Amino acid sequence: MSRQWNFSAGPAGLPEVVLRQAQQELMEWQGQGASVMELSHRGKPFMALAEEIEADLRALMGVPENYRALFLHGGASQHFAQIPMNLAMPDQQADYIISGHWGEKAVHEARPYVGVRVAATNEPGGYRQLPQVHAIDPDAAYVHYTPNETIHGVEFRQPPPTGDVPLVADMSSDILSQAIDVSRFGLIYAGAQKNIGPSGLVLMLVRDDLLSRPKRMMADIFNYSAIMERDSMLNTPNTWAWYLAGLTFKWLAAEGGLAAMGERNRAKAELLYDTIDGSGGFYSNPVDTAARSRMNVPFFLHDESLNEAFLSGSEAAGMLALKGHRALGGMRASLYNAMPLKGVQALTEFMREFARRHG
Ligand SMILES: *Cc1c(COP(=O)(O)O)cnc(C)c1O
Repeated sequence: MSRQWNFSAGPAGLPEVVLRQAQQELMEWQGQGASVMELSHRGKPFMALAEEIEADLRALMGVPENYRALFLHGGASQHFAQIPMNLAMPDQQADYIISGHWGEKAVHEARPYVGVRVAATNEPGGYRQLPQVHAIDPDAAYVHYTPNETIHGVEFRQPPPTGDVPLVADMSSDILSQAIDVSRFGLIYAGAQKNIGPSGLVLMLVRDDLLSRPKRMMADIFNYSAIMERDSMLNTPNTWAWYLAGLTFKWLAAEGGLAAMGERNRAKAELLYDTIDGSGGFYSNPVDTAARSRMNVPFFLHDESLNEAFLSGSEAAGMLALKGHRALGGMRASLYNAMPLKGVQALTEFMREFARRHG
């Protein structure tokens, strides 16, 4: 079988250019006589690579001087817990804005470490609109939100206003998908497996003053300052994932950077939503237009008994992983950076044809 259009929500498809280069360098990397994943992370070649990757990331995202970049373990989920450990004392309180499944998870994992106040949630509305953020507690240690909810397909167009309270963003499923102003955030973190590279790596950008907050007692391995002081190499990092992330950053720069990706992602999403909305009710997406995600598009067939036929038909037509998350059912198409417009055109053509045959 050849490579298919991969609509997986995560781990998601990687750019073919990146995979090809990794394949080429798998036996031997840059005259080292071994692949990058077989070399010491403390050796000169890997240290130099890590520096280059950080520089590429900073250029790509326009990361200000007073932010550190960390390359971490544990998936985004571990940092649901580790962020409150590092940013708040046990008797402090943090505000959480919940716009879907991952925001709920973040709250659940934070509760043992900080007083959680739910500042806004749209759970009662089934996460179909954005929650109205009225009042942030000015004494909160931070405000946490999820700019893009991967399962519910709900995305903020702008970061919510939080006054002087630092904003913490779980960007696992929208990082690098458009140009952003990093200085609006106190801390940005993302599991790599959606828009960066393979799972097992977490990227974090954090403002200096948050790192130097007084901390509760904890092991170094949980302590972002200790990790930062050791250049994200307090213990053996996932060097292979780190290297692949670096290849993705180079690819993004070559494609025109994040502004160009933003345009492309908007066009891809528009095409899919137009197809859904123009299907005369055959397909539907329940999310408020103003909150629709550019990255993850859940959609439903008016007749659920056609779900199996839709999935097997789409697979036969060369499309992978369109089955929706079990929490919602239906379908979901994830349109991360590595999915070209051509892939979305193939999907929408299939959808129109399927609707014609079964409508
Ligand atoms: C996938 C995802 C997570 C969970 O990531 P893990 O790396 O599996 O812990 C958290 N938040 C968001 C927004 C996600 O999309």
